[in-house]
Formats: sequence, C-alpha cells, structure tokens
Amino acid sequence: MRAAVVGGGPAGSRVAELLCRQGARVFLYEARPGWEKPCGGGVPERGVDFCPFLADPSLPHIRARRARIYSPRGREALVALAEPLRIYCRTQLNGHFLRRAQEQGVEVFPKRVTSLNREAGAWSVTDATGRSQVVDFLVGADGASGIVRGRVAKSLPQLRQSLGIGYYLDGYTSDEIVLKFFDSLDGYLWIFPRPDHLAVGICGPTGAGNSERMLLDLKRFLVELYGVRVLGKMRSYGARIPSPPPCGGAQDYCAGEGWALVGDAAGLVDPLTREGIHYALASATFLAEALCEGQPDGYARRWEAAFGGELEWASAHLKLFFSPRFMEAFTRLSLTAPVAAIVSDLIAGRQKYASLRGRLTACAPAVGLALGALLFQRLVAGRPRATGPALVPLENGWIAPGSASGYRVESPVTAPARGTPSIGR
Ligand SMILES: Cc1cc2nc3c(=O)[nH]c(=O)nc-3n(C[C@H](O)[C@H](O)[C@H](O)COP(=O)(O)OP(=O)(O)OC[C@H]3O[C@@H](n4cnc5c(N)ncnc54)[C@H](O)[C@@H]3O)c2cc1C
Repeated sequence: MRAAVVGGGPAGSRVAELLCRQGARVFLYEARPGWEKPCGGGVPERGVDFCPFLADPSLPHIRARRARIYSPRGREALVALAEPLRIYCRTQLNGHFLRRAQEQGVEVFPKRVTSLNREAGAWSVTDATGRSQVVDFLVGADGASGIVRGRVAKSLPQLRQSLGIGYYLDGYTSDEIVLKFFDSLDGYLWIFPRPDHLAVGICGPTGAGNSERMLLDLKRFLVELYGVRVLGKMRSYGARIPSPPPCGGAQDYCAGEGWALVGDAAGLVDPLTREGIHYALASATFLAEALCEGQPDGYARRWEAAFGGELEWASAHLKLFFSPRFMEAFTRLSLTAPVAAIVSDLIAGRQKYASLRGRLTACAPAVGLALGALLFQRLVAGRPRATGPALVPLENGWIAPGSASGYRVESPVTAPARGTPSIGR
C-alpha cells in the first residue's frame, strides 16, 4: 500500500510510523516541522499507554505530581496525582514522533500540501513545490484547520470549535499543575510546568470579544498568584481547538472510501478538558491496526468501542460541568480523599465519564464523613492558610537534568529557598 499522511503532529507521525512498520510505503507532509504548536503539552498516563516511549527520560518532560484547583470564588484544593501528568514542549514532542517515523522509513516532506485530487481510486497529493505523489490511501492528520477534511467529503458535519490562548512564561517551572475555573466561562485556565518554562493558557468559546476577556482573566489571575514580575517574560500563543460535531458516531466523520482522518482533523478532542494528544495517538493506533488488517471500516469500530459515548457525554455536560455551583462543590469535595482520588483518575484519564456519576454516588457516605471531619478540624484549628502554588525560578539552579523526568526539582517546591521570589499573595 502507498499512503500519504498530511500533517506531522503526534497523530500523523504516529500513524505513518505504524503503517511503515507493517510494510506500507508512506509519504508524510509537514508544513512546519519543528514548530511549537500552541498547546499545554499535558499527556495523561492513558496516552502514554499507547506510546510507552513517552516515559523515556531522554525525552525531556515534567511529571506533575499535584493539581492545585481554584474554584470560581477562589476556593483552593490541592490534589495528589496517583499517576503524574507528563508535560512536554511540543517542539520536542513533535520532533520525537517525526524522528521515529523517519527511522522506520517514512519519507518525510517538510512541505505544505496545497492540493488533493482523486482519480480512478487513487489520490494525487501535491505540495507547495508542485511535486505530486500518487497514493492508494490518504490520511488527514492536519489539525483543526487542515486541507484534507474539506477535500475528502464536502458533506462532513462541521466540527465544533473553541479557543485556546495563553502565554509561555520563560524561566520558571514547578512540579504541580494549576487549574482555575471562572463564574461565566465554559472553559478553564491552566498552568502547566515544562522543563524550562510554564505553559499558561485559558480556553473557552469562540465569539466576539471572548479572547480579550479571557486574556484579561488570565493576566489578572497570574498577577494575583505570582506577582507582576511574571508578566515580563511572556510569549503569547493561541489556536482553535476542535471537538466532534454535535451528532453522529465516529463512522460519520472519521473515515470513508480511500481516506481517514485522525486526531484534531477528525475533531477528536475532549470538549470539556480540550485534551487531544491522547486521542491523536489512540486514533493513529486504531487506524494503523485497521489498515494493516485490510479492513479500513475497523477504524471507526475500534474508535467507538474505546471511546464511543465519552466525547458525546462531555459535550452534553459542558454547561453543567463549568457552572459555578458545580465547580464550587467539586472543589470543596476535592478536599476529601474519595473525591480527590476521582480527580486524580480523571486527570490520568482512568475515570470514564459514563461511570463518573455512579462512582460519585457510591462514595457519597465516605465523602460525608470526610467533610464532617474537615469541618471539625477547622473548628478546632481554624481555616488553614492557602499556600499558593510552588513556582521554581530556574535561574537559581533548582532544576537539575538527569532525573526520571529528565528534570528534577532539587528543593522541595513547597518550601522556596531564601532569596527566591515568594509565590504571590
Ligand atoms: C491552546 C491549546 C492547548 C492545548 N493543550 C493540550 C494539552 O495540554 N493536552 C492535550 O492532550 N491536548 C491539548 N491541546 C490539544 C492538542 O494540541 C491537539 O489535540 C493535538 O496537537 C492533536 O494532534 P494532531 O497531530 O491531530 O494535530 P496537530 O498537532 O495540530 O498537528 C497537525 C499538523 O499538521 C500540519 N499541517 C496542517 N496543514 C498542513 C498541510 N496542508 N500540509 C502539511 N502539513 C500541514 C501542521 O503544521 C501541524 O503540525 C491543546 C490545544 C490548544 C490549541
């Protein structure tokens, strides 16, 4: 089989590598090799299940061991993550996937695909230099606004879109993530530490004036948390985040005769968390398996079996999830061990949405007891002072290379050394 893959992000590079390994001749086109794709870079452990090499310390990343959650009214909960969230720079992550594909024999063209033509059951793929390849199968891995989706089937349902914008804050890192929710935003703010900077961002609906409002909220929160000094070292970024169309199963929007879409190109992003790297890797794996079995239809079936209903559930519960009432309760309950365990599993991708309500109901009595104990503790000892997130300035040499995550926080991050900037407030 000769296949062309348009897009060399995690989805494209991974599917190209897997197809080549099974004997296909694969041409991979990437318009911007080595770019820092606007992204948090957080990969839950279930994503690493698909690509265990992501845990290799030679690929620099941070393992965030705690999540600090802020409710709309500023209530704070610190949750220990049973499975740390791995956070990567996208330049390094994409580079790693692309190198693996090349090593497997994928022919990589660092060019933009400009036209696609279907004739007599084959695809002719033309890049910006005017050079064409004729292939039997076309994979669209070209992200949220790629060329393939619009070309393969004009009748495909429109993907939903939201907005992700933010900044890279140079010179700081940490070993915990921060998640902040707001009163009237169907989205949230994140601070993800990377080996040599923080990726901070905020996501929410598209629409006139939304990006300005979101950036204002983001800056206000950063200043409140860390002080104005962090604003001096910011590089901005922004991009649209797709999610599946409102109706239809994967078979309706992922594949057809001689073509398939993977990752963002198929809209395979969680509408609640906006997490898509894991789905990019899962879809790449499912497509490669189905094509290698000679049964392209198996792609949508695999997808439905693994994730059917999950993304629909997330879409349907968006308003409820981000409502201030739910978020206040959720943050308060995250202070109890049973709900903290659920939050930890949600972040690792181990908790399916479909069984979330059942698990919450089952742990209600234990949560009630834990809340009672918390209340008693507060009556006796008073309300604990919020500690604020740990922020590690790299200039002080707190971070040393060579640990399991590629980087190691040498000092306990909750107790900054004397002379280092304090953590706001
Ligand atoms: C602000 C923001 C924060 C996010 N944070 C997270 C997060 O923390 N964790 C998470 O899991 N997900 C996150 N996501 C989502 C995540 O970035 C995507 O789901 C993921 O990158 C999808 O991978 P992909 O390979 O499908 O697409 P992409 O990574 O978008 O790759 C598509 C590639 O196709 C190339 N391309 C496009 N058109 C052409 C063409 N015509 N010819 C050749 N090449 C082309 C592009 O250059 C690009 O490299 C975030 C997204 C945004 C916008």
